[in-house]
Amino acid sequence: MFVRGELEKIEVKVLSGKRLSREDGEKLFSCNELSWLGALADYVRKKICGDRVYYNVNCHVNLTNICRARCKFCAFGRDGDSKGSYAMTIDDAIKLVNEASRDPHLSGLHIVSGLHPTWTFEKYLAFVEILHRKFPALHIKGFTGVEIQHFADISGLSVEEILRKLKAAGLETIAGGGAEILSDRVRNLLCPKKATADQWLNVARTAHKLGIKTNASMLYGHIETLPERVEHLIRLRELQDETGGFQTFICFPFLPKNTALEKEIKQTSMWDDLKTIAISRLMLDNFQNIKAYWVMLTVPVAQVALSFGANDIDGTIHRENILHDAGATSPRALTEDQIIKIIREAGRVPFATGGNT
Ligand code: SF4
Repeated sequence: MFVRGELEKIEVKVLSGKRLSREDGEKLFSCNELSWLGALADYVRKKICGDRVYYNVNCHVNLTNICRARCKFCAFGRDGDSKGSYAMTIDDAIKLVNEASRDPHLSGLHIVSGLHPTWTFEKYLAFVEILHRKFPALHIKGFTGVEIQHFADISGLSVEEILRKLKAAGLETIAGGGAEILSDRVRNLLCPKKATADQWLNVARTAHKLGIKTNASMLYGHIETLPERVEHLIRLRELQDETGGFQTFICFPFLPKNTALEKEIKQTSMWDDLKTIAISRLMLDNFQNIKAYWVMLTVPVAQVALSFGANDIDGTIHRENILHDAGATSPRALTEDQIIKIIREAGRVPFATGGNT
């Protein structure tokens, strides 16, 4: 390849399958050799997972946007008396999934919601039980580490007991959100009312122990430093070494519109997005799947990200709400044919996952 000095040493390490250090990660974030980074990440992607790109035909179910945490980076969560706040009934959720089920390929539900100040854990659990009973063929991926910790806090049950009950009700995998940046400095400033970094990791560790796979994510491009991004990736990599229970990592670029940070922070550039995906692939050497989430990245950037280390492009979604509240300019849904075309155009092989990634 075409680099010299410190970067060349990193390249040699990657090509010989050696693990990158914290210092290597920081050097990568300070370098601007984007095409080199992309080629290196693409080399690793091909070695680990070949040319398949995963996607799923899924439906997002956001039970409520009423949330007691009111994180500064979130445009979705609201107070109960705010304009646009809502809380679904069981019938609303069934109606939404019935509508999405008109697509005969629908294979999964993705359930994430606000931390409703008066709902009990049993109420959230009932949604899972009933949706699983009515739609037994659909894979239920639901709740983030933040929601699971919230259920433990409001119920007095342990995280393990919460997870056992959700699993018995039909939950199969856990969503990757809520990790944000695994740094107490960042969390205290942006989201002090929800799970700490250690609590989020503990939920993932406990789930893995129970045989429940989880995803992991990173919300970047707000107040975090580049060393904090590296620290975040290393904490995930360490837990993956310990449990092997993460199935997919997703990079979420921060979308500032309609958030409390709108006036202070500009949206990330495509350059930063592609660089962050490529570095994630290189640092997370024990993760099989790196997802380019088209809703946040936009479809064109997600497609290019398939050459920067990503091997998953998420799903059809049916109707996205959370990120469109934050000004996402991508469509609210894609058809399966559109996703297949995006993947094939990138020279890769589409592979439907059955709703679990
Ligand atoms: S990110 Fe989640 S926990 Fe935070 S305000 Fe939004 S919905 Fe609530």
